[in-house]
Amino acid sequence: MTKRPLHPRSLAAQAMGKIDPLTKAVVPPIHVSTTYIRDEDNAYSSGFIYGRPDNETVHEAQAVLAMLEEAKAGALLFSSGMAAATAVFQALSPGDHVVASKVMYWALRSWLLTEATRWGLKIDFVESDDLDKLKAAVKPGVTKLVWIETPSNPLWTITDIAAAAEIAHAAGARLAVDSTCASPVHTRPLTLGADIVMHAATKVLNGHSDVIAGALCARQDDEFWARIKTVRKGQGGILGPFEAYLLMRGMRTLHVRQERQSASAMALAQKLAAHPLVSRVLYPGLPQHPGHDIAARQMEGGFGFMLSVQVTGGEAAAVATAAHVELYKRATSLGGVESLIEHRASIEGAGSPCPPDLLRLSTGIEDVDDLFADLDQALKAGHR
Ligand SMILES: *Cc1c(COP(=O)(O)O)cnc(C)c1O
Repeated sequence: MTKRPLHPRSLAAQAMGKIDPLTKAVVPPIHVSTTYIRDEDNAYSSGFIYGRPDNETVHEAQAVLAMLEEAKAGALLFSSGMAAATAVFQALSPGDHVVASKVMYWALRSWLLTEATRWGLKIDFVESDDLDKLKAAVKPGVTKLVWIETPSNPLWTITDIAAAAEIAHAAGARLAVDSTCASPVHTRPLTLGADIVMHAATKVLNGHSDVIAGALCARQDDEFWARIKTVRKGQGGILGPFEAYLLMRGMRTLHVRQERQSASAMALAQKLAAHPLVSRVLYPGLPQHPGHDIAARQMEGGFGFMLSVQVTGGEAAAVATAAHVELYKRATSLGGVESLIEHRASIEGAGSPCPPDLLRLSTGIEDVDDLFADLDQALKAGHR
């Protein structure tokens, strides 16, 4: 008899269902040991040698994420999203050509423009939501990596992952996707042809704004994935066992949080689109969003928890609106159970495509009517 496969939400809720063999504990213990006993014949029969590359709690959290992303080659956790992302670029060689999304997480764009360039990577930034521009930027035989973020910070532009994978592969390059804001609940890029998926696990995967963590998942256990493992082990940007445990606890509720957050984000986007003090709502769930049709194809069960609004009255009104929120928290980051608001242009600095009248909203799990009422009163107070 073949067993019916379990839904990812069932496996995630039980963190893969592992029971501690010694105590039968339903929640596995946190493994803190930095070192492991060698056998009398000098072998390491457990497979664990030293705590930097080998930690069971980290492995357990990686197994949950690999399952969620349908990552055949597995997942690797890192000390932060930036440590995960930069490991991909550090696995390239000096002189390699990279094409990256113009609209992306600002700190990574800044790292690519400074450190990665200093190490000899040649990087072209392109509006990857425009496939003709992406195709024109990729150089067959020369480009080694295409890096996209979708939906991308803070405009929530959508790149067609399957089409980008075809373009990258036709040129002999790999496709990596920063899927932080989609989460595996809505999009699984590896099933659409991507080679590597990156997450700032700090955000919605953990979901409680109390862990900094990053992750990579791979479709194929090839020489590039091996090099990424070597970079992680050598540079030591690993996740500690306590953080791995907290992340695993967060992922147990990922599906319920995401469903609530995405449904609320959609409701807020619709209401804000009709608000007289809002000039534009950027949310891929709205039919007027330029990426809506592609998002409807490649995102399942919702369009994510992130949206941005442009307010009437320009930058001053945007900053004043953020100053008047009461329930929303005025803070950077995203994906937690608490809703956050941020004037992005003040953070992103020169070279950012972020308009000055934009406020970024991360939708939490609070009552959606409370969230809208708070934005409504803040918009009115900010325009006085
Ligand atoms: C936060 C974030 C990162 C960086 O993650 P850290 O854990 O802060 O290093 C990368 N990409 C996106 C889309 C993010 O939101």
